[in-house]
Amino acid sequence: MNLDNSKKLYEEAVNYLPGGVNSPVRAFKPYPFFVEKAKGSKLYDVDGNEYIDYCLGYGPILMGHANDKVVEASKMQLELGTDYGVPSQQEVELAKEVVKRVPCAEMVRFCNSGTEATMSAIRLARGITGRDKIIKFEGAYHGAHDTVLVKPGSGAAGLPDCPGIPEDAAKNTLLACFNDEESIRKLINENKDEIACIIVEPIMGNIGCIPPREGYLEFLREITEENGIIFIIDEVITGFRIAKGGAQEYYDVTPDLVTFGKILGGGFPIGAIAGKREFIEQFAPSGKIYQAGTFSGNPMSISAGLATMDILTDKFYKDMHDKGEYFRKGIEDVLGKLKINYQVTGVESMTEVYFTENEVIDYESVKNVDTKSFDKYFHTLLENGVFIAPSQYECIFLSSAHTTEDLDNTFDAMETALKKL
Ligand SMILES: *Cc1c(COP(=O)(O)O)cnc(C)c1O
Repeated sequence: MNLDNSKKLYEEAVNYLPGGVNSPVRAFKPYPFFVEKAKGSKLYDVDGNEYIDYCLGYGPILMGHANDKVVEASKMQLELGTDYGVPSQQEVELAKEVVKRVPCAEMVRFCNSGTEATMSAIRLARGITGRDKIIKFEGAYHGAHDTVLVKPGSGAAGLPDCPGIPEDAAKNTLLACFNDEESIRKLINENKDEIACIIVEPIMGNIGCIPPREGYLEFLREITEENGIIFIIDEVITGFRIAKGGAQEYYDVTPDLVTFGKILGGGFPIGAIAGKREFIEQFAPSGKIYQAGTFSGNPMSISAGLATMDILTDKFYKDMHDKGEYFRKGIEDVLGKLKINYQVTGVESMTEVYFTENEVIDYESVKNVDTKSFDKYFHTLLENGVFIAPSQYECIFLSSAHTTEDLDNTFDAMETALKKL
């Protein structure tokens, strides 16, 4: 595979951008391919190579790249202005769509990213309860702000503590173990009446893909209720992906607050905090808890989001369900033929393959998987025109644009890659 143009661009990029990229997870060795354009399930690089894309912008691209309906809506909006600084009807319409779909959502505040959403949701929880401490899970990623960048997943998984985060900012972040009830009980007992919220990724999507054990989310709902703790489900990945109403509908557990990002903006930057009216109303200007943004509710993201909601029907989720099942069965068939220790995990259109013989249930159990094998596997897949995220700690995503032919070609590439291990 010829990558000369990417190599040249990378050598220039590192002089102007740290590591040559604008988000750490995008850098991989020896250098990433530079993209020229994307359409449907495919990415095309500057050397004319084509890749079936399972990274999908790390989650947002649920309907494939440059979806026709989203492109059309965005073009129309572009002509009408891109930043108003005053409210528009579309913001109300998208908020209504979120409220209609998502069980816990009675009211919505839009912002610009998942990071902003979790930052604001945690401030809201702290403001309402008058408590400072929060519980997050080891390996959970909730964006790149100080409070949650403590044992995070995604691009920071396994790295040492990030310099620049004041001890005072991190000391109020208590760490729990996913799928473990005892670790939550212990933290709550040791910090009685001091915990503002528990924030959880309902399916751990930033250390691959780890579903909750049966009853675990219900347990979190009950114990937070009993202790006056606000329960936040971070659906930045799962929202609008695994079901119309997200993971909370899928697992039938209703939190107090939910955070969204990724898919909601139809490929444009967005974030949102939603939940019980009595809580969301506490945001300024109806309440005292400050939350703001120049681009919040910007017309490009909102109009693309509305076009997206039009596409996300019950039938859409049924098709995605079938595709997810077909995908995992195909992968298991390939792996079953070879003598390799592996685990395939997944829910709906989220999947991961781990090179380990142990069951993966939390951060501890994935910390020691065979990442060397993963690297080899990743690079051979790439050479064979299949792009998955370059880290064992990211999820493999499917879009509605992936065809059966794409998936079958991917199984062949996987077989080639795995035989090399
Ligand atoms: C991606 C992600 C975030 C952060 O969203 P950004 O838009 O990158 O700031 C937060 N939470 C989860 C679960 C995510 O996967």
